[in-house]
Amino acid sequence: MNINCLAMHVVSMPLKQPFHTHLETVREREVIVIEAHGKDGAVGWGEASAFSTPWYTEETVQTEWHIIKDVLFPLLEKNPVHHPNDVHELFQSVRGNRMAKAGVEAAVWDLYARQQNKPLYDVLGGTQRPIVAGAACAGATEAEMLSQVEQFLKEGYSRIKVKIGPDSGIELLKAVRQAFPDVPLMADANAAFSLQDAAQLAALDPLQLMMIEQPLHHEDMWEHALLQKRIKTPVCLDESIRSFHDAKSAISMEACRVINVKYSRVGGHTEAVLIHDLAASENIPLWAGGMIELGISRAHTAALATLPGFTLPGDFVSGDHYWEEDLIEPGIKVKNGRYMPSSKPGIGVDVIRSRVEKRALSSFLQKK
Ligand code: MG
Repeated sequence: MNINCLAMHVVSMPLKQPFHTHLETVREREVIVIEAHGKDGAVGWGEASAFSTPWYTEETVQTEWHIIKDVLFPLLEKNPVHHPNDVHELFQSVRGNRMAKAGVEAAVWDLYARQQNKPLYDVLGGTQRPIVAGAACAGATEAEMLSQVEQFLKEGYSRIKVKIGPDSGIELLKAVRQAFPDVPLMADANAAFSLQDAAQLAALDPLQLMMIEQPLHHEDMWEHALLQKRIKTPVCLDESIRSFHDAKSAISMEACRVINVKYSRVGGHTEAVLIHDLAASENIPLWAGGMIELGISRAHTAALATLPGFTLPGDFVSGDHYWEEDLIEPGIKVKNGRYMPSSKPGIGVDVIRSRVEKRALSSFLQKK
């Protein structure tokens, strides 16, 4: 494949409603949109998804900008790329910085698929379309939470996720279970608990949750293994799984029974597919998580989620839930709790350049 030039833009999008976790409230979402141009005129699009501050991972929009401009783009400028897997191989010489890598690699995957005239899901080995969507509810009061859940269930979403911490969310989670005894329900703790809270977490067993996501510190896989022995609810790892190696360790020490795969957290599609294949061989179910991304990244996530090991509903919500106007057409639309990735080449959506330019705070172009 031929890459002619690479470009990136920091774009800023206001969220319709602020997004709360116990770590951060996000009101304005900055991401880096990346373009890879082929000599044939085709353009592939990617999105580097770190936040403006390092609350979710250590990367930020500014560290991504530096790594992409000064390290990753120059690597692609100096070396031939025949397949997107070559990008993954080239980027092995750079430690960490996975979201920066994933954004650039995603643009190359999209370009490659467009040049092959195939949808990205096909190129990645996906088999399931449409994909099944779950929703995350973030009501502040019980009434708010229950009405959100009701609305999502009416719209056909197949599972409900509630954010919890030691001092927040648990009563709301219990209220949801009481009001909806049969709904597939899960909790996400974003690493808010410690092993000392094991009894509090074991007390959630009767709620019959599908899983509890990332209960403990993101760097402590061993304590997750100890916790899993003390609770019946399956542990799902999110922030702890940054690579194939992390997934291998977690599975071998039985630190989790489910993995939430975000291609941007693990450094790109190539790494995500390696994790997928390992998890499939170990009977660990996967689902695709989200990070309040714009449509470009959502479309990439959707392509990945068509792989057969993604057997649980992912975090998929229509784009208009978050944004007045996304950068893509058609926008991400979940219908009856399902999202159908387009069968057009690449990520299957058009990125509207005028919207990127309207939202761009800064841009950079690198000729090959
Ligand atoms: Mg999570």
